[in-house]
Amino acid sequence: MIHRYKNNGYNIVLDVNSGSVHVVDELVYDIIGLLDEGKAQEEICQTMEADYKREEISQALNEIQELKNQGMLFTEDIYRKAIDHFKERETVVKALCLHIAHDCNLACRYCFAEEGEYHGRRALMSYEVGKQALDFLIANSGNRVNLEVDFFGGEPLMNWDVVKRLVEYGREQEKLHNKKFRFTLTTNGVLLNDEIMEFANKEMANVVLSIDGRKEVHDFMRPFRKGAGSYDLVVPKFQKFAKSRGEKSYYARGTFTRHNLDFSQDVLHLADLGFDQISVEPVVADEKEEYALRWEDVPRICEEYDKLAQEMIKRKREGKGFNFFHFMIDLTGGPCVYKRLSGCGSGTEYLAVTPWGDLYPCHQFVGEEKFLMGNVWDGVKRDDIREEFKDCNVYAKEKCQKCFAKFYCSGGCAANSYNFHGSINDVYDIGCELQRKRVECAIMLKAAEAEDAEENNQ
Ligand code: SF4
Ligand code: SF4
Repeated sequence: MIHRYKNNGYNIVLDVNSGSVHVVDELVYDIIGLLDEGKAQEEICQTMEADYKREEISQALNEIQELKNQGMLFTEDIYRKAIDHFKERETVVKALCLHIAHDCNLACRYCFAEEGEYHGRRALMSYEVGKQALDFLIANSGNRVNLEVDFFGGEPLMNWDVVKRLVEYGREQEKLHNKKFRFTLTTNGVLLNDEIMEFANKEMANVVLSIDGRKEVHDFMRPFRKGAGSYDLVVPKFQKFAKSRGEKSYYARGTFTRHNLDFSQDVLHLADLGFDQISVEPVVADEKEEYALRWEDVPRICEEYDKLAQEMIKRKREGKGFNFFHFMIDLTGGPCVYKRLSGCGSGTEYLAVTPWGDLYPCHQFVGEEKFLMGNVWDGVKRDDIREEFKDCNVYAKEKCQKCFAKFYCSGGCAANSYNFHGSINDVYDIGCELQRKRVECAIMLKAAEAEDAEENNQ
C-alpha cells in the first residue's frame, strides 16, 4: 500500500507497510501512481512518452524497481501476521491516571470532565486511596520497572498536599520493589506558585500546562466560574515554570474549537510567548455544541495545518524553531510492533483511578458506569472489558484497513470512537481526516528538514 501526495512543493510517496518515505520528481511520482493502479510497464511507457523521453522513463522505472528490491516500495504488510500473537500477549499495568481532584477552579466550556466533576460529584482523592492506587500499580506491573503516574483532574493543584505525599510514598516504595516512578502533572496554572514549581521541577518528569493560545481565545474558552478570563493570571506563571525547567520536560497544551479555526495563530502565539514545546489539539465534542468541529470545517483546518507547517519551516531556518506535538512523527519504524498496532494501551496497560478508587479504561471513560472495571483494593474485576480493549487494534477496525496513517495513529482513540459510535472498535471520522492531514504535514516537515541538512552539509 502506498500513499502519494504533494505538499509545499514536495512530491511525497509513503510506503505504508515499511514506513519508507520517498521525495521524488514528477516523473517518478506519476509512474508510481500508474503502477499502483496496476498498469503494466509498456502501458506506462506509452502514457508517459507524451511528456518524457524513453530513456528517462526507463531510468525512472529502474529506480522504482531498485526501491522495490530493497523493500522500500510496494511492500507486504508483515504486521498482520503478528496480530494473533499480539492478541494473546500478556499485559501488565504500566501507567495510572490519578484523578486527584474531581473539582476545578475554572469552568472551561469544552471540558469533558464537566468542570472537573465527571458526570458525578465533586471530590478530592484522599491520601489513602492514592496510596492504595500506587500499591495496586506496583502489584500489577509484573517485572516492569518503569511506571508512570499522571496527576490529573479536574485541577490537581486543588489537592496538592496529597500529590506531594503520594510522590513521597512512591519514592519510598521504589526502593522496596525495584520500581521507578515517572510522575507527571497536568495543570491549569491558577494555583501555581514557587513552592509547587520547585517541587514539580524536582519530582515531575513532565508537566502539561493547559493554555489555549491568544488571550481572547483562551479567555473565552477557559474562564473562571464567575466569567473572568484566566489568561493574564496563568501566562506569567507558565512562562516562569517553563523557564525554571530549563525549557524542557513540559508542554503547553491547548485545544482549538470552531471559534478559532485559525488556530495556527494560537500555536504561533504560544511560540511567541517563549514556549517551544506546544500541543494544540482539535476539540472532540458532540455536534450539538456550538464550539464543536463540523465536517464543513475540515478543509479550513487542513489549510491551517499547512500554514502552520510552512511557518514552522521558516522559523526553524531563522533559528526560532519549536516542536508542535501533533507534527512529531517517528519515521524510523517506531518503537515496536505492539505499539504500532495498539496505541495508547487504555484498559490494559493504562487505567484511570477516580478520587474514590474506582478503575476505568482511561480518563475519558470515567463516569461511564458501563466501563467501571474494578477498584484499587479488589483490582480489575471486569476481565471482559480488559479483553475488549486488548483486542482493539488497527486490524480490528474496518475503516483503518485502507488508511495510510494506520501505523502512525494505531487505530485512533477508543474513547472518541465510543462517544461517536457507541463502540470502541470504530473511529471518530472527523478526527481521522485531521489525523491524516497531520501525518502528511509531519512527513513533509521531515522532508524539508532532510533537505536543509543536506544543503548545510554542502
Ligand atoms: S486515522 Fe482513523 S482510519 Fe486511519 S488509522 Fe487512524 S483511526 Fe484508523
Ligand atoms: S482511549 Fe483515547 S482518551 Fe483514552 S487514553 Fe487512549 S487516546 Fe487517550
